[in-house]
Amino acid sequence: MRANRQKATPGERAILTGMKRLWALIRQRCPVCLQGQVFLSLFGMHTHCPVCGVKYERETGYFLNSMFIGYTAGFLVLTPTAVLLYFLDVSIPVFSIVIILEALILTPLIFRYARIIWMHADQMLDPRRSEKQKGIS
Ligand SMILES: [Zn+2]
Repeated sequence: MRANRQKATPGERAILTGMKRLWALIRQRCPVCLQGQVFLSLFGMHTHCPVCGVKYERETGYFLNSMFIGYTAGFLVLTPTAVLLYFLDVSIPVFSIVIILEALILTPLIFRYARIIWMHADQMLDPRRSEKQKGIS
């Protein structure tokens, strides 16, 4: 086992950075500084990060791509329930009510994580610096 004083290898640093980003993603934090809260209410977002000041909506229509993530997540979440209800041979009204209720209950979660996942993926593909980092260099 490595001593803490030794420098981490590039692979170890990459794993550590990935773990930090995953933890920030789970906690719905800023994709740039990994600390600032993104949402201020159930569906309401901050326009800028309260910690680093980066603007979340990078350009007009920036969050359209998160809709694809949301559709996919909705499909992946609702399909097992639909299949289970099919094999339980429930009536069409019960099937519809269960699926609609599940969709309504999960909508805020899917909406929020679709945007967060998109923002973090975009940050990894096309990194940008925070307003504070821009001021330093
Ligand atoms: Zn930030």
